[in-house]
Amino acid sequence: RAAIEVNGLRKRFGPTVALDGMSFAVAPGRVTGFVGPNGAGKSTTMRVILGLDAADEGHALVGGRPYGSLRRPLSQVGALLDASALQPSRSARDHLRWLAHSQGLTAGRVDEVVEQVGLRAVIRRRAGGYSLGMRQRLGIAAALLGDPPVLMLDEPFNGLDPEGIVWIRGLLRSLAAEGRAVLVSSHLMSELQDTADHLVVVGRGRVIADAGVAELLAAT
Ligand code: ADP
Ligand code: ADP
Repeated sequence: RAAIEVNGLRKRFGPTVALDGMSFAVAPGRVTGFVGPNGAGKSTTMRVILGLDAADEGHALVGGRPYGSLRRPLSQVGALLDASALQPSRSARDHLRWLAHSQGLTAGRVDEVVEQVGLRAVIRRRAGGYSLGMRQRLGIAAALLGDPPVLMLDEPFNGLDPEGIVWIRGLLRSLAAEGRAVLVSSHLMSELQDTADHLVVVGRGRVIADAGVAELLAAT
């Protein structure tokens, strides 16, 4: 069954229609690219899935349940929404230890995710001095802490150099190969076509195309 189900979401911000009947499903064991121009409603959809924004209509389910009713939600879905939200005076290590502690996880788990995202060399430095690429890695480490079967990453390629882009592709592929559901957004098809198995293409708050990458690229 679908790891994430989004069904008929509608959402306005004052006069702006952010979501206009957004519906799609995300399957486990593959990378689903969520692609569309800026303003198409990708972030709002992810925020609604996580219960950070309320939809006016429709519903979103994670593992068949609303996010708000999940037991230990951070062990069910990990998310990277905005990598800029960091306390500048703290090190990445303090940040992750605090997050681990608040989820009842050990410091050993912090070491594992730090290794996984390649931050070991800089883990003691203050986050204030981090580049955007390092903040992205730290945000991904935070999303992975609870070892969740579902991951949602909003524009994780932003601010990464070519080496970082290759790295994140490999990471997303390996997370999907482990059987996880991975939903990853971008405003650039070029960032997703070599990364995703499946694409959900959106514009103006709704789905325009929903198909396998090979099928979609053959059609265009
Ligand atoms: P995307 O992630 O695809 O760039 P968003 O979900 O961020 O799109 O935005 C969808 C639309 O909703 C845009 O027109 C955006 O300006 C608007 N929007 C998003 N969040 C807010 C907000 N908090 N207040 C007002 N408008 C918003
Ligand atoms: P309280 O429940 O007492 O308000 P919090 O649970 O918010 O405290 O925070 C506990 C400790 O973790 C505090 O020392 C706080 O400064 C620190 N802390 C809060 N948010 C973060 C964060 N995102 N990263 C690292 N440390 C944090």
